[in-house]
Amino acid sequence: MSIAPVRTTCPYCGVGCGVIATQGSDGAITIAGDPEHPANRGRLCSKGSALGETLIPDGRLLHPEIRGRRVSWDAALGKIANGLSRTIADHGPDSVALYVSGQLLTEDYYAANKLMKGYIGTANIDTNSRLCMASSVAGHKRAFGSDTVPGCYEDFEQADVVVLVGSNLAWCHPVLYQRLAAARAERGTKVVVIDPRRTATCEIADLHLPIAPGTDVAIFNGLLAAISASSSFDREYVSRHTVGFDAALVVARRASLDSIARIAGVTTRALHDFYELFVRTELTVTAFSQGVNQSSSGTEKVNAIINCHLATGRIGKPGMGPFSITGQPNAMGGREVGGLANMLAAHMDLDNPSHRQAVQSFWSSPRIADKAGLKAVEMFEAVRDGRIKALWIMATNPAVSMPEADRVREALRKCPLVVVSDVDHTDTTEFADVLLPSAAWGEKDGTVTNSERRISRQRAFLTTVGDARPDWWQIAEVAKLMGFEAGFSWSRAADIFVEHARLTGIQNSGSRDFDISADAAIAPDDYDALAPFQWPHPTGTDACETRFFSDGNFFTPDRRARFVPTKYRALDASLPKSNLLILNTGRIRDQWHTMTRTAKAARLNGHIAEPFVEINPIDAVRAGVSGASLATIESDHGAVVMRVLETVRARPGSIFAPIHWTDQFASNARIGALIKADVDPVSGQPALKQMPVKVSPYPARWFAFATGVPRPHLEKFGYWALARTRAGWSVELADATQDIDGAIALDMLWPAIAATHEILSYCDSTRGEDRFAIFDGARLKGALFISRSPVACARTFITDQIGAVFDDSQQRHLLLAGRAGAGTRDKGPTVCACFEVGRIEIVEAIESGRAATVDAVGQATRAGTNCGACRAEIGGLIRVAARPRPTEVMHR
Ligand code: SF4
Repeated sequence: MSIAPVRTTCPYCGVGCGVIATQGSDGAITIAGDPEHPANRGRLCSKGSALGETLIPDGRLLHPEIRGRRVSWDAALGKIANGLSRTIADHGPDSVALYVSGQLLTEDYYAANKLMKGYIGTANIDTNSRLCMASSVAGHKRAFGSDTVPGCYEDFEQADVVVLVGSNLAWCHPVLYQRLAAARAERGTKVVVIDPRRTATCEIADLHLPIAPGTDVAIFNGLLAAISASSSFDREYVSRHTVGFDAALVVARRASLDSIARIAGVTTRALHDFYELFVRTELTVTAFSQGVNQSSSGTEKVNAIINCHLATGRIGKPGMGPFSITGQPNAMGGREVGGLANMLAAHMDLDNPSHRQAVQSFWSSPRIADKAGLKAVEMFEAVRDGRIKALWIMATNPAVSMPEADRVREALRKCPLVVVSDVDHTDTTEFADVLLPSAAWGEKDGTVTNSERRISRQRAFLTTVGDARPDWWQIAEVAKLMGFEAGFSWSRAADIFVEHARLTGIQNSGSRDFDISADAAIAPDDYDALAPFQWPHPTGTDACETRFFSDGNFFTPDRRARFVPTKYRALDASLPKSNLLILNTGRIRDQWHTMTRTAKAARLNGHIAEPFVEINPIDAVRAGVSGASLATIESDHGAVVMRVLETVRARPGSIFAPIHWTDQFASNARIGALIKADVDPVSGQPALKQMPVKVSPYPARWFAFATGVPRPHLEKFGYWALARTRAGWSVELADATQDIDGAIALDMLWPAIAATHEILSYCDSTRGEDRFAIFDGARLKGALFISRSPVACARTFITDQIGAVFDDSQQRHLLLAGRAGAGTRDKGPTVCACFEVGRIEIVEAIESGRAATVDAVGQATRAGTNCGACRAEIGGLIRVAARPRPTEVMHR
């Protein structure tokens, strides 16, 4: 039976797109963008479009477990409640901790924060949002007295200049990028990208400043000095609404334009052009993301940017302002309920006695935490050294995502009680004493808040799988067993939302930014029907405010914003002289976090199927690695092995690697294991983008590519990277320790298959190549290509043949050539995930003269005509075709 379409919200990035989910009579879920949602107006990116394909049971946690044994919910919850109570009784409330996630819904977050801060009496609750935007929170609070994002997405469309700092918007927030690209096409918005890498976002950049890592503060200090000497300096605004300009300017003026250009590694001309553009353009938005936040000087960077907007009075008005783009779907919701260890609920402050008293009294709780708890990095260190003896992890994968991830694993191994609530098996669930199955997207109800302060509903449209339960329910049941029945007697998510909304109005009257008390009387039916709205929405108001600070009133005691003198601190000065490179990390277009969901959708794996390191050709020569080979990247904390992508997109001296791969999908590619747990001193956010590392060749004796069904066995191979495909799996293989016999490799991948299936083989011993095709009757079941050098074959074409009928022997032999033959077609690796259009198809359209623009490529191939997430990449292919090719080598 089909169900009526359900309006809900995408669970991935901070854009917070509205989604319409429809279940057909065959049970299949169709996903479409919600045309009425203000964040996306019907658009979705490749990840959002593929959500329906991720709703499969593979990998799901189905039942509660204690040490790997299936148990009832009663047994699991009892074990947790007893464990927490006993630990608190023996060692005090600070001996327990909760590590939560920007993937949680606001109602989950609220329950978790209430239990820890109000009932257990510790602020040892932190979130993976600490890794994402804690520096923005700290910067906002220093400047505005509150954690406020002043603007909204429409500002991107109303601005004349948009400056993107440390933000690969095209891949990390694709729908917002599409909105900006459309505005640029319509009204000629100038786009400046400040980023060490030439990212996909640079396809729409009028100016790209490929700055040296960590030099953002120097750049914006120089801009403040330029503003002060120009007509854009708003003296009246500064004197009426701000404090501290002179002190900030003294610091900002310390470096000349030439010296800033030298520090940042850009030309004086380019820097001058940027300053000129900013100074003369009133309607300017400066948007920033992880390239700013994930730094040991992240908070200084945020304040250096905000200083420039305060000095020009460009804040809180249409088309202007500083704008922090959050990474996760509910990083903002977590901030609203106090999900960080140094915050209280409803944007109240832990170090304010009257706020503590207000919250405790509202909750009628037995106690209230009175000091900040341990932030993420400190928390796992305390687990490792035994100060924390019971840890509950919800909806996050710290065994992969934390810096010094191997040390985090050691901590989890040592901890007497580790509870993990999650939807899927992950690297972290391996360490759980108690494992709780959580309801997934599509199965749970609640709200999320996006980067522009818009609260939207996530709605359930599927029955939960197995025994899975919502995270808030798990918290509430444990709280009740610990004796806190009265505070946790909610029967549905709507009850929690109402309580949360009421708390935002307590002792507020405009003294705090976050107020949604107008929604506190909402009935369950109205909660079900709640349309997306922006905060603030205080009692007695009808419409919500779109922007903050247009009146120059900030949330400091004197209502004036603060300039913060921001001192530029160089990264380790010895680096340029050493053979070390700076590792920058980040997301790729079609994967999300640690791939528990996106890796289930075959079409999302078609874009990039293997962990890789981007390296400039100059550095590749120095390191002795070449495109398509494998490289070891190592630091004092660990080592990984990744495929080499030689590209001029990487700045000389810097390399880039994605954050996504885990032990579930690769032999050794957890990038967190390399990164030192160095944090910003103000925000506690780890510096995930500035790690000195050494790159060297991985001495592979052979390489291989295999594809087929069933899932291959990989435990005996030194290097492997696995991806789901439409018909089965594909895997890249290599080994540095032993030569390989092709037949033995086949048997290691798919044991005993040779005895039951027909195997066609080809061997070229002079070139060191072995190729195999496995047939089940006439159907291709698998293929294996082995070579002494990186395997060159048409991977997409071969993968697409799995399950196809080969009833002619010539066809079978052609397959072993590893290329599409006459009458067959190799489309190349996926560029457009929506219509699965490959790179070769697009390049053919461009080179044939049929398509000279992105729109023309769309007409010729359909690529880029749905979600648009690949349009930047198509633009790059057109640009490359128009001039001699730069060096860019991985494998096809
Ligand atoms: Fe989801 Fe993509 Fe929208 Fe982000 S931009 S919320 S990932 S559909």
